[in-house]
Order: sequence, then C-alpha cells, then structure tokens
Amino acid sequence: MNDITPREALNFDELGFDTAAVRAGTLRSEYNEHAEALFLTSSFCFKSAAEAAERFANSEDFFTYSRFTNPTVTMLQDRLAALEGGEACIATASGMSAILSIVMSACNAGDHIVSSRSIFGSTLNLFATVFTRFGITTTFVDPNDLDAWRAAVQPTTKLFFLETPSNPLTEVSDIRAVADVAHEAGALFVVDNCFCSPALQRPIEHGADVVVHSATKYIDGQGRVLGGAIIGKRDFVMGKVFVFVRTTGPSLSAFNAWLMLRGLETLPIRMERQSANAFKIAQWLETQPGIKRVWYPSLASHPQHDIAKRQQKTGGALVAFELHGDTPEAQRANAWRVIDQTRVISITGNLGDTRTTITHPASTTHARVTPEARAAAGVTEGVIRLSVGLEDPNDICADLARGIA
Ligand SMILES: *Cc1c(COP(=O)(O)O)cnc(C)c1O
Repeated sequence: MNDITPREALNFDELGFDTAAVRAGTLRSEYNEHAEALFLTSSFCFKSAAEAAERFANSEDFFTYSRFTNPTVTMLQDRLAALEGGEACIATASGMSAILSIVMSACNAGDHIVSSRSIFGSTLNLFATVFTRFGITTTFVDPNDLDAWRAAVQPTTKLFFLETPSNPLTEVSDIRAVADVAHEAGALFVVDNCFCSPALQRPIEHGADVVVHSATKYIDGQGRVLGGAIIGKRDFVMGKVFVFVRTTGPSLSAFNAWLMLRGLETLPIRMERQSANAFKIAQWLETQPGIKRVWYPSLASHPQHDIAKRQQKTGGALVAFELHGDTPEAQRANAWRVIDQTRVISITGNLGDTRTTITHPASTTHARVTPEARAAAGVTEGVIRLSVGLEDPNDICADLARGIA
C-alpha cells in the first residue's frame, strides 16, 4: 500500500499467537520506525491526477482518505485478523457500530435474524427496536437450546448471532453446534467474542463465519478508547462491509487504532493473569454465606462448564454473582450495598480493563431491556458483574467482603 511496506513478510499461520500479538500487521514507512507510527491525517496526497484517479478507484488497496483506509488502522486490522485466524478485518469506531455494520451489510429489508437472547443490552435493543424500523426482524432464543435455534429459522433468515460467554451471566454456548444449525439454514453465523478475546477463544476455528468485537474491552484492555472490529472471509469483509463502513463513516480513528495496537501487545499475558485472578475470586465467592450463586465458566458448578473447557483456554476474567434477598427490592439493596462498600474496585459500566470494575446490570447496562427479557436472561436485581483486573486478588476479595458481611 502506497510507499509503506512491511520490512519482512512473516507468515503468522506458522508463528505462535504471542508472536502475532506483538508483530502481526506491522508496517514501516520510509523512515523504518520500530514502533508502529500514528498517522494522524485525514487524507493522503497523490503524485498526479492520474494517480489520484487510480487510487480512488481501488480504495481498499491504497491510502486515499481515512474514512476508507489509514495505515495505523490497517496495521490493527491485519493484526486482529491474524489473531482471530480470519482472512480480513475492518475496524470500527465502537463495538455497536461493528454489529450495525455487519447486519447492514448482510441483511436487506424483509430479512430475518435468529439471535441468542443472552446478549449485550445495546445489541438486544439494536435488534429489537432499531432494525425492526427498517424491516429486519429478530427471533430471540435460549442460546443452549439447539431445537429453539432450528425452530426459529424462517425462509428469510440471513444471520445467526451468538455471544459466548454472555453478558453478564457468562452463559457459554457450543459454537460448533450453533454453527451447524446456522449453516443448515444457509445463514451467516456471527459470534461476539468480546468476553474471551482471541487469546482465549477463536470462534472461526469452531465454525463462525464472522467474529465481532467491542475492542473497547480486552483489545485495548486499559479502558481508554472505544473501538470495534469485524473479522471474517475476505469477500464479505472487504466487499460489503468495507463498502458500508466507507460509505456511512463509522470508521475507527487512527489514534484509537494506535492505542489498541499497544494494547494487543500484552493481550495474551493480560488474559492469562486476569483469568487466574478471576478464578481465585470466583472460588472465594462460592464460599461466602451471603451469596446465592456464582457464575464463572471454570467452576464445576457452572451450567456449561464442559463446553467452556472444550472451546475456551480459560474461564475468562468476568465473574457474576447473585446476592440473597426475599424480594427484588431486598436483592437490589444487598447488591447496591456490596458495590457501595468497595474502595479499590471501580464502580463503572466498562469491563475488560486492567482495573477491576463492578456493575449492577439490572439498573445500568440492562436497565433499558424490558423486565421480561431481563428475567428470561436471568439478570435479577441481586446480580453483580465483576470484571477482574490485574490487582492482587486478595485485595479484591477483601474489598467485596466488606459489603457481603
Ligand atoms: C461493550 C460490548 C458491546 C458494545 O461495544 P461498544 O464498544 O461499547 O460499542 C458489544 N458486545 C459486548 C459483549 C460488549 O461487552
């Protein structure tokens, strides 16, 4: 692309994941800088009118304008594609704009989606309220009921959507099994891999056609910027998705891409340590009398423990737990007390940060979801979501113990 070429063409299919996390996609300019350069420029110059015409005609292959392509963003895209084992990647301004771009690229008015009901709150609203205004309807199903996925298929079904593990209850679904149903129906199978990141789970290896990320979470990993990514087959991603993003403009900023390239360098070690901390905290929570239930995929008590063992490297860094309470009001009061008594943990809606964060989903991330949908997804007033970071896990347990006691 332009005058910027890789110094060495490494084959990341033959190199380890950790190597790809620090090196895949790196481009060097004529100055041979070692660290990835930040290209803060909205447009690129041409040597002549003829060159401009040629480059605009082939805008996926050349740098012309940063809504289309930008070298820093391209480096991130190529690195993410390598990490997920996909052919191509388009990065977007947020996870939601990535999901929007996939559906707008794959579906037309009159088409139908089958989606897990256990998905991120905004994704649920996007499907249930925004897309219906444009004639795209969605049937929501229990993600672990394969017959329900099958029964939901209509002649107009174009897309299957799964999030695993799910938010906030870390519900795990068998990617391969849902992929088979999607492909029988001739549908594009999209997996939101936000909670695991490619360091712990690579859905394309289990039959997913497209992987979507809120890069805001573990990809950046330090809670600094918003971003999203779409990874899959070259003809879909560089065809319809690229044209949609180029035309409508949810493109990722070069600055955010540059921070995420930094973030990816430590992705494997962050995920390993944060998962180990989460497992310790989940085991401790299970021994606490004030707690009704703990959800963490590595616990033997987790309903899909075996599936998680098969398709994930670790249980991840998200832990959910439910406080006791005779009524929903009492449960909420108990959950809010635990949150309010913390001093180390941050009370914030974000997750995937190196700092542990705590959220009450029913009144925050899932507040706009109808009470019926919330109940179906098991998000009661007593549920707390913990996104475990890199602190000493003993400090996190002590922080939680104050409110639980
Ligand atoms: C946060 C999140 C999203 C949305 O991503 P944004 O970057 O906030 O737009 C989508 N899916 C999951 C699972 C998430 O956690």
